[in-house]
Amino acid sequence: MSVVQSLLDLQEIDGRIRALQQESKDIPQRKSQESARLQGARSLVEQAKNDLKSAQLTVSKLEGDVKALRDKILELKKHQAQLKTNKEFSAYNLEIAKIEKDIDVAEANLIGSMDHVTPCKTVLDEREAKLKEEQSVVDAYCAELDARLAEVQAELLSCQKTRDEATKLIQPRELFIYDRLLTKRWPVVVLLQEDGVCKGCNLQQPPSILQGVRRKQGLVACQMCGRIVYQ
Ligand SMILES: [Zn+2]
Repeated sequence: MSVVQSLLDLQEIDGRIRALQQESKDIPQRKSQESARLQGARSLVEQAKNDLKSAQLTVSKLEGDVKALRDKILELKKHQAQLKTNKEFSAYNLEIAKIEKDIDVAEANLIGSMDHVTPCKTVLDEREAKLKEEQSVVDAYCAELDARLAEVQAELLSCQKTRDEATKLIQPRELFIYDRLLTKRWPVVVLLQEDGVCKGCNLQQPPSILQGVRRKQGLVACQMCGRIVYQ
């Protein structure tokens, strides 16, 4: 087998390794993008929780108000029983009637605020259900990604072994040149077209390079990009 053919075989394995490395780098990023998608649904749930809490607080406050007014009336009635004059008695009646009106207003508000609680609960339930649904889609997708990552890592290990075997067929000097190029160029070994254009950088090579490649003696590098060229 020619040196170039051994390097092309190695390059094929390296192509697979590069693709797998890229994929294993992309997977965690895809997972975090997926989780970020839930952010919108999560903040809608938070908002609905706050709305419900505030509706419930309004109800409690109005219940407290009504109770305080009723207590006040009881207190007034207790006092009223000890009064001596009709004038004082009437004044208390007026005061009590005024508070009863206040109670009517507070109770109407209380009913209104109670009516507001149920829709808030419904919105929260709907949003929680939606979040749960989205979460399960994301969880399933992330589990697929995890499984894929495990496959990618296993394949990378096996590719690395195949690569080690493939490098045994290449002389250390050629392998050194190839590996050095691999750190800065991809692909490393490229076709030199019949018209003398390098397929790596698309630049025309001088005739000496074309001749060197055709002699098939050792490795020939593109004068512009340094890649190993072959025909
Ligand atoms: Zn080139």
